[in-house]
Amino acid sequence: MARTAPPTRQRVLLLFLLVLLGCGFLATSLVSYYSAFNSIRAGIIHTELPLTSDNVYSEIQKDLVRPILISSMMARDTFLRDWVLAGEQEALPIIRYLQEVQAHYGTVTSFFVSDKTHTYYQAKGVLKQVKEDEPRDSWYFRVREMAEPYEINVDVDMANQDRLTVFINYKVLDYQGNFIGAAGVGLTVDTVVQLIDTYQQRYQRSVFFVDRNGRIVLTGAEGGPMGARSGQTLLELPALESLREQLATPKSGSFEYREEGRDHFLNVRFIPELNWYLFVDKHENSALANIRQSLYLNLLICLLVTLIVIALVSVALHRYQRRISAMATTDLLTDLLNRRGFDLLASQALQEARRNASPLCALLLDIDNFKQLNDSHGHLAGDEVLRGFAQRLRDNLRQADIICRWGGEEFILLLKDTSAAQARDLGEKLRQQVEQSGFSHQGQDLAITTSIGLAQLHRDDSLDQLIARADRALYRAKQAGRNRLCEETA
Ligand code: GH3
Ligand code: MG
Ligand code: MG
Repeated sequence: MARTAPPTRQRVLLLFLLVLLGCGFLATSLVSYYSAFNSIRAGIIHTELPLTSDNVYSEIQKDLVRPILISSMMARDTFLRDWVLAGEQEALPIIRYLQEVQAHYGTVTSFFVSDKTHTYYQAKGVLKQVKEDEPRDSWYFRVREMAEPYEINVDVDMANQDRLTVFINYKVLDYQGNFIGAAGVGLTVDTVVQLIDTYQQRYQRSVFFVDRNGRIVLTGAEGGPMGARSGQTLLELPALESLREQLATPKSGSFEYREEGRDHFLNVRFIPELNWYLFVDKHENSALANIRQSLYLNLLICLLVTLIVIALVSVALHRYQRRISAMATTDLLTDLLNRRGFDLLASQALQEARRNASPLCALLLDIDNFKQLNDSHGHLAGDEVLRGFAQRLRDNLRQADIICRWGGEEFILLLKDTSAAQARDLGEKLRQQVEQSGFSHQGQDLAITTSIGLAQLHRDDSLDQLIARADRALYRAKQAGRNRLCEETA
């Protein structure tokens, strides 16, 4: 019987192929995705954000270091101190001095507040008296008490239509080191804010400043990241929830967090001149979204390819198996069933005949003196005759009948639903046809005859017994002189 690969083994093979291809594709897709992702991520963390931070820092330095220097020079100016120590007789010299500073250094304001008189002098004249209970003046009283020589304070400037201004508030001390007032200059943060806006809009990143206590002190014109405003603390930003512990008090470094399904990269850097931290935040941009999309596309293509390969292999396996089993049951020369194929169908036919109590006959045919034909006309001629003989059998039999090349020049027919008389008629008809029409090979007529043994299926017959009887009948036909049909005797 034909042995075909059992379906479970086939399924295991296909499953193995599926797992192999799936894992292979998945691994290569993920490896290329992660390497692209990591290089973009590394670019953002190690290049883009530090570069932005450097640029903003150098702008800040440009904008702030000079005013700090100017303020420091004012605080140590002997004219200013002498004028205060001489009792602030006339306002004009100090106003002229402040005008000179403002005009020469290009600041938006310059000021001096006297501790003795609490008078606020600035380039345009005497502005006001500072009062301890006035919230707007609280800065002065803070400066008076602080240990450091100066502070940087972002505030609105009364003398300049309340524009947001960075004030350098420098303590002025007399020659004995006693506090006698605060002097300094102010500059608008417009340039810094513009710079922040440029970065925020052009490069899709947020830039903002945070003081040592985690309070946002300076943002772009449209606010900080995720709508944060100056004055808010980092802890109040829901997006930074995951960094709460790490940034409870700000510190320099690189951080990552997720917000609304996007990865954020954050670079924090301390700016000693400001005593502030510069935050540069960037969320995954289209580059990362693109490679993520191409990963999905890759995976989809891999899935399709895997499925197509599995389907093709499955079809090929199926076909191959069918061919193998067909080859195992078919005779190559005549295309009839071989013995193996015959055994399969014959046992079924026998069972059917017994079940239906229907008659069944076997005809065993053997070409007479075939060896002689081979010897005189060659093997190819013999083959031609065998093919023609097989075709003749096919032509005379019904679809349901079983025709088999039993071996060499012997053929066996199993005739379903056929009585011995009908089988005899058919056998006789075949014998006569063969005798009368013959075959031809390369223009040569090849006359042959055939001997036939007939046996009918008996109750409780085995296939072997039936064939053995047909064989005996055939033997008798040969003995009796060939070219005839003999029936079983018993
Ligand atoms: P008999 O009338 O007694 O049957 O004589 P025979 O010559 O037909 O019988 P024998 O068994 O002596 O010879 C059968 C020959 O059939 C011998 C063998 O070479 C030949 N034969 C068997 N298979 C093939 C085949 O596939 N092709 C060809 N050309 N010859 C075959
Ligand atoms: Mg023979
Ligand atoms: Mg023969």
